[in-house]
Amino acid sequence: MFRLKALALFSGGLDSLLAIKLIQETGVEVEAVYFLQPFLQEEQEEKLVNQLKELISQLHVKLHIIRLDQRYLRILETPRHGYGKAANPCLDCHIFFLQEAAVLMKEIGASFLVTGEVVGQRPKSQHQGAFPVIDQETGLAGLIVRPLSAGLLPPTIPEEKGWISLRHCPSIQGRQRKIQLELAKKYGLNYQAPAGGCLLTNVEYGRKVFDLLKHEGKLDSGSLRLLGLGRHFRLSPKFKVIIGRNREENSKILRYFYKNRRDERLFLLKIDEAREPRAYRVPGPLAMGIGAPSPEEINLFSLLSTRYSDLAAGKEAVARILQGGAEHRLRKERVTATKDPALPQKYRIT
Ligand code: SF4
Repeated sequence: MFRLKALALFSGGLDSLLAIKLIQETGVEVEAVYFLQPFLQEEQEEKLVNQLKELISQLHVKLHIIRLDQRYLRILETPRHGYGKAANPCLDCHIFFLQEAAVLMKEIGASFLVTGEVVGQRPKSQHQGAFPVIDQETGLAGLIVRPLSAGLLPPTIPEEKGWISLRHCPSIQGRQRKIQLELAKKYGLNYQAPAGGCLLTNVEYGRKVFDLLKHEGKLDSGSLRLLGLGRHFRLSPKFKVIIGRNREENSKILRYFYKNRRDERLFLLKIDEAREPRAYRVPGPLAMGIGAPSPEEINLFSLLSTRYSDLAAGKEAVARILQGGAEHRLRKERVTATKDPALPQKYRIT
């Protein structure tokens, strides 16, 4: 027997879970899609995917996970509708997700899309005025069903054609969560949102994204993934530095360097104490420089790294610096350790 199918955009949040449930109640079969940003740390990604699978399993829905590609990064670089409070181009991002979902919709034989959008809930993409823009730019006018605000929106094609009735759906507006929470209780849904949220909405992460855009002119998933790691410093337009904050970050920095060791724009640095006849190892972070530094910037890189080593201020330090490339070059830089807080403050990208 033919059963109508819909494809829901799943964000991992309660609203999209409820949207799926409300459409399931119309008798329509629902599949869901999640768009995975290509710059999460490996373990973050694994955890997130597991959480998403667990959440969606409550509704017995098939989940498609699509990893976003270069086209998404180009949108992040120059969003037509601009950014939100951080580096989050929500309206463009949402339009792109819907366009990609429309392709999948056809592939799986679904007849319309479903989202958990709520009128007036978010400043940009979920403002009622944004819905016509979204519908028009995606070319999906009438095919995007938003069951949580169904009563407030014009009827969609599936309603007009009598495929579905949304009379049982609420008319939620704005940021209030009362109705959603009542519905979650009614349907017995666990709605623990996946940890972390969207990195692009994080103001600190956003500053690092804008720094990258300003100095590199483009984004790639490797550089974006590094932004979630360590302390970031901009020493000059041509040179930036990342200093690990703990053992885990140090080993990720090391892994990144070795994976990209043919890249002569990479510099791996470790601070030791300068003693005679040879350097004495001291605990401290691994640091990585990226770019084309001048000799002064290599010196500054070394000095800055002593700030986070166990060396006391005034101790003589030796920075061992390995440069990537076809042949690795090891150089040593002598500096006097500093603990001056003004130094990192001056260069930190925050
Ligand atoms: S919160 Fe992040 S994933 Fe969601 S629409 Fe905005 S930028 Fe895109």
